[in-house]
Amino acid sequence: MNPCKCGYLGDTSRECTCTPAQVSWYRGKISGPLLDRIDIHIEVAAVKYSDLDSAHTGETSAQIKARVNNARMIQLKRYGQQGIYSNSQLYASKIREYCVLGLEEKELLKAAFENLGLSARAHDRILKVARTVADLDGSDKIGVKHIAEAIQYRSLDRRYSQELF
Ligand SMILES: [Zn+2]
Repeated sequence: MNPCKCGYLGDTSRECTCTPAQVSWYRGKISGPLLDRIDIHIEVAAVKYSDLDSAHTGETSAQIKARVNNARMIQLKRYGQQGIYSNSQLYASKIREYCVLGLEEKELLKAAFENLGLSARAHDRILKVARTVADLDGSDKIGVKHIAEAIQYRSLDRRYSQELF
């Protein structure tokens, strides 16, 4: 979706012409419970031609594919014969079992909750996404950086809490 009706909110190349009320109305078309059911919200800036044209320096698609395949294998092994084959399928009791956090990680998540006003459903999504981020990183433990990345993927919740309320 666009960030607003005109499509330029937060864009560095053009100015958004919407009023705060229009942005609120536009965002309000997606209800909180629907947002809660989406695992990852992420803001993607418009691509500039110079970026498309420049030499690519990140991971290659083949490298990313290998990392994803590895994360899938980790999950298959972890859940064994439980009829679960990916983190996204974890339900409440399994989340408590497999997405265990240390003290520091709990503190970060608690702070994010208090600041962003997240729902219980968003909480579980963050834990499952953090489990996946850790798997992609080849880490048994969900660390602070994994939780922090998963929180980043709730950008619409953040927008809601900062701009509209
Ligand atoms: Zn706009």
